[in-house]
Amino acid sequence: MSATLLDIQNLEKSFGQTPVLRGISLAVKEGEVIGLIGASGSGKSTLLRCLNRLETPSGGTVTFQGKTDHDENTLRQQIGMVFQRFNLFPHLTALQNVALAPQKVRKLDKATAEKKARELLAQVHLSEHADKLPAQLSGGQQQRVAIARALAMQPAVLLFDEPTSALDPELVGEVLEVLRDLAKTGRTMLVATHEMGFCKEVAHRVCFLDAGKILEEGPPEQLFETPKEPRTREFLARVL
Ligand code: ADP
Ligand code: MG
Repeated sequence: MSATLLDIQNLEKSFGQTPVLRGISLAVKEGEVIGLIGASGSGKSTLLRCLNRLETPSGGTVTFQGKTDHDENTLRQQIGMVFQRFNLFPHLTALQNVALAPQKVRKLDKATAEKKARELLAQVHLSEHADKLPAQLSGGQQQRVAIARALAMQPAVLLFDEPTSALDPELVGEVLEVLRDLAKTGRTMLVATHEMGFCKEVAHRVCFLDAGKILEEGPPEQLFETPKEPRTREFLARVL
C-alpha cells in the first residue's frame, strides 16, 4: 500500500445548530479498503456525502490527490458513490444507465460509452441483462448496475453507503461478491456497512463512528476481537 490518496483532517459538519461530524480525521491510502461502522445516526452517510461534496463540510479539510481546493465537479467525478437505494434512471436500460454519464460528462461518443458499459456490466455479472429496465431487475441486480455506473466514470475512490441494506437477505451475497472483487483489484474504497463479516474479511481498516467522531479504528481482527472502547464493545455486542 502506497501514497495517501484522501487525507481528511478534522472534518466537521453541522446541520443548523446541530453538529453531526465533530472532527473526523482519516488518511486513506491508495488501494485501501476502509469499513465504516457505527450506530444509525453516528454520521457515516454524512461523512461519505461530505467527501464527494453532496454536502458542504462546515470545517476541516479534505485533501484529495494532494490538493485541497478541487471544484465540486472534479470531486464528484473522481470520488464515485453507490447509495443504499440504487437510484437508477427508471426509464433507461441497464446499459443506458451505465453509459449515460460518460457521454454527458466525459464526452465519450455513444458507441465508445456503450462498449465500455458492456464490459462493466460483464464485470458485475450482468451481461445478459444489459437491455432490461431497472424494474425488470432484482434489487441485487439493480445495485450491481449502480456499481457499474459508478465505475464508468473511472473514479479514483469509491464510496459505498450501506450498499446491501435495502436488499432482501438472499441478494446481499451477490453484491458483496462484486465489492470483494473490487477490493482485490486494488480499488480504494470506503464502505459504510452493517455487514460485519464483510468488514472482517475485506476491509484493511475499520473505523467505528460514534456521535460524529471516529471513536476507535484498527485492523478488523483487532477492532472486532479486542475493541478498546466500551462503546465499541457495546455496539459490537449488539450487531455481531
Ligand atoms: P448514519 O449514516 O450513520 O446513520 P447520518 O450521517 O445519516 O448517520 O446522520 C447523522 C445525523 O445527522 C443524524 O442525527 C441525522 O438525523 C442528521 N442529519 C443527516 N442529514 C441531515 C440533514 N440533511 N439535515 C439535518 N440533519 C441531518
Ligand atoms: Mg447512513
